[in-house]
Order: sequence, then structure tokens, then C-alpha cells
Amino acid sequence: MSTKITNYDGGVITVPQKVVRPESVEELQAILKDTELFPKPVRAMGSFHSLTPCASSSGTIVLMSGLKKIQNIDTQKMALTAQAGLQLIEAAEVLRRHNLQFMLNIEIGNITLGSAACCQTKDSLDGVEFGQVNSYVTKIKWVTPTGELREASLEESPELLYLVRSSYGMCGIVYEVTFKIKPLEIVRFNYLIHNINDLTQERVSNIIAANESIVCWTVGRMVVIQTRNRTTKLKNSWMADIRRQGWSYTGAFVGKSIRLYTPTTTLKNLFENLWFSMQRFAYRFLSAIGGFSLYDPDKIINYERTPPSARYAFTFWAFPRDQWVNNLKAYLEFSENHFKKHGFRCNMPLGSYFIRRDASSILSYSHDGDIISIDPIHAYSDVDKAGWDFFLQEFNAWAYSRGGIPLLNQSPFVQKRHVVDAFGERWQKLSDWVKTVDPKERMLNPFFKELLL
Ligand SMILES: Cc1cc2nc3c(=O)[nH]c(=O)nc-3n(C[C@H](O)[C@H](O)[C@H](O)COP(=O)(O)OP(=O)(O)OC[C@H]3O[C@@H](n4cnc5c(N)ncnc54)[C@H](O)[C@@H]3O)c2cc1C
Repeated sequence: MSTKITNYDGGVITVPQKVVRPESVEELQAILKDTELFPKPVRAMGSFHSLTPCASSSGTIVLMSGLKKIQNIDTQKMALTAQAGLQLIEAAEVLRRHNLQFMLNIEIGNITLGSAACCQTKDSLDGVEFGQVNSYVTKIKWVTPTGELREASLEESPELLYLVRSSYGMCGIVYEVTFKIKPLEIVRFNYLIHNINDLTQERVSNIIAANESIVCWTVGRMVVIQTRNRTTKLKNSWMADIRRQGWSYTGAFVGKSIRLYTPTTTLKNLFENLWFSMQRFAYRFLSAIGGFSLYDPDKIINYERTPPSARYAFTFWAFPRDQWVNNLKAYLEFSENHFKKHGFRCNMPLGSYFIRRDASSILSYSHDGDIISIDPIHAYSDVDKAGWDFFLQEFNAWAYSRGGIPLLNQSPFVQKRHVVDAFGERWQKLSDWVKTVDPKERMLNPFFKELLL
């Protein structure tokens, strides 16, 4: 009997014939070997927090939640080895007991380590060196499409690791990963407020040079540059809980409720403008109190208990760092025009992640240089789902025309021409490699089949 599985935000629904939850590597091998009982495409599924159908399958879905043991925490080599179904937040909690942490403590705590190892991710605030989680995976073990065991490691097969880090389960299912870790740190966030009209690329460069890393939030025409630096003392650390509550509940819940329950468009816009003003006030307040500091893993957010009424969705396109201010200005013009013409605008702050140049994986979106992204974020409900979907497609066209780079798991409605242009020769190389490792297309779902060359 077919089962319906829906992703976190409700935007992707998949109906596989078979859903399996192996609890051992042998079971996983047996699933991949048995082509009759477990029809293709066979797709691994972590927490299904992706915003595209990358994990979808009409054949077999392999739920990874039965494989979540920590195998080893090596304090000499500073590495954690765990099974692929373990969530980042679960692993971080164990590391914390040993005064250790991941190199990147990305916001999405529910990402599974398997997905983090072989998909695209982003984290600005810990991206002092690299901002993509798979750049810190040093060994990946997987079961091939025909059920054999394989591994790639930084020490013995860096070229293979470079490909597997971007494999999205197309070379098989990852069952064990080793990530670099480090001693627990305290980090400080400060908030620099700008008006978009006064912001220059030079100012952004100076801020980047003076801090370990940055992430930016734009509300209306106010641009907030959140800086990150290591520190030794906790300050206003109570803010960590408020921040978590804001992202995992309040921000999306209020935005969604205004859209859902305000009776007229005039009132809706009025309340929404008021809500944006409150958000700007919150950032000004954070700036005025000198920001706050927290234990770095407290940055990770658990979305497990977030009800559908408080969930948000987003998209992510990367742009060269030195064109960001121009792109941001152009985006604001694009989105304001879109609102005038179609009556739709996003109800959460626009995110912009600064990620340093990183050629650790074939689909690294900062392979050729530093990037700053443009990420519209929106909490939609039935009343504006169509408006959000249309906006996303218009935004894709806009971002594509400006040379943006999308992600396969975080840019809804991504198309072949987007990835062909964005990744160039690397897209061809990845497509060729997938053909050699899975000639019978056991892992290939329509989403990837359509995108690959
Ligand atoms: C509210 C929210 C906040 C988010 N915040 C961030 C953020 O801050 N930073 C960020 O980078 N991303 C963020 N994301 C996106 C999310 O991290 C990615 O989409 C991630 O890939 C989801 O991980 P998952 O474990 O749920 O994988 P899934 O969505 O289940 O799968 C993703 C892909 O990985 C494949 N896969 C999964 N497990 C395996 C395995 N063991 N072996 C081989 N292939 C596998 C799947 O087949 C699929 O192609 C956020 C998403 C949401 C909904």
C-alpha cells in the first residue's frame, strides 16, 4: 500500500510504493540488492527538511532514522563518527557533554548527518573558514546501488570524497560519516544597522575584514549585518532562548496568522507593516544592548516540535560577494514591483549568508569565490501558497538572469538550465560520474533525472 509523506513545510509530497526503515547496514544492503521487493527509484530520506523533491520517490523510500548510533568520538584526531540517520542536534548534545562541538553549528538541528555529508548546506555564522558542512566530513561510507559497501576519505581518496560530498544519494545510501570537531566555544553576535541607500560594497568588505564572519537580515529597507566573533564570556545569553523561539515558532506564526485571519487587504498590509516595524525595533534593540553571546551549539535550532501553524519556507541563491549590494538593491526593487503588481510579498526577514571560497565539493556554490546569498523567507498557508509558489518562480528567473547559483535541496523549482549555467563543467562531470556509479538508474528519481545531463 502506498504511503504519503510530506516534507517539513508541506510544499513537497511524495507517495512511495515502499517505505523501509533499516536498523543495520546489512538490512540496507539487502534493500538495495532486492530490485523486485524494493522498486526504484530508491531514495534515502533524513528528516525531509529539504524544500525540493530531492528525496522523493514513487518506488522505495529508505528512512534513515533506524541508523543513528554514535560510533566514536576521537579526542586525539578531533573527529566524530556516527551513523547517517543521527540528527545534527542529537550529535551536538552528546559532543557538548564532552566540551566539544561541530565546526559548523548550522541553524537546522534536524538535518541528518548523512544528508549533511552529501548535500549542499550553508552556515554563515561559523563560516570562519568554510560555511558548508560537508567540507568538514573526512570519511563517508555508503552502500552502492547494487548493495556493495564503499568508502571515501580525505586521507585515502580525496578526489572521490570531492564527488561524494555532492552526491545527494545518487551513488548509493550513506550509512556512516566522520566529521571534524573542535573544543566548545563561546561566540558573540553584534548587530550593525544600515539603510540600504547608504550601504556600499566597500562598507560590507570592511565589516567582513574586521570580523570572523557575518550574516545579513533585510527588513523593508533596513539591512542588519550580524557579526560573529569568538569570545570568552557569556553576555545577555538569555537572548539565545528568545532567538530559538523566534525562529522555531514566533516569527512564522505571527506572519502566517496576519495573512490568515486579517479580513481585508488594507488591514492585512497595515498589520504586516506594523509587524515589520516591530522586527526592525528588535534588531535596533539588539544593536543597542551590544548584542549577545552564547555557547556556539546553542545556535542550533530544533524544529521538531514546531506545529504547521509556525513553519516557514525559503529559497537560497548564491551571488558573487562583490556584487551583493547591487544585487540586494535590485532584489528590493524586484520584490517591491512584484508586490505592487501581484499583491504578494514575503512576511519574514530576507536572509543573506556570507560563505567563503571553498572547493571541497563539486557542487560547492562558492567553488570560484566568496559569495553572499539572497534568501527570501516566507511563512505561507493555504491562503497564499499559490502566491509564494509564483513568487519563487519569478525570483528564480530574476536570480538566474543575474548569474545566481541555486541549491538542489534549498531552491524550490530549480531547473536544468539553472544548474547547467551555475555549475558549468562541474555539472557535466557530476552527471558523467553518476552514470558510471549507477548505470541502471536505481537511485535516480525524476527530480535528478530531469536536472542531470
Ligand atoms: C526550517 C528550515 C531551516 C533550515 N535551515 C537550514 C540552514 O540553516 N542551513 C542549511 O544548510 N539548510 C537549512 N535547511 C535545509 C536543510 O538543511 C536541507 O534541506 C537538508 O538537506 C535537510 O536534511 P534532511 O536530513 O532532512 O534530508 P532530506 O531532506 O530528507 O534529504 C535531502 C537529500 O539527501 C538525501 N539523503 C538523505 N540522507 C541520505 C543518506 N543517508 N545517504 C544518501 N543520501 C541521503 C536525500 O535522498 C535527499 O536527496 C533548512 C530547512 C528548513 C525546513
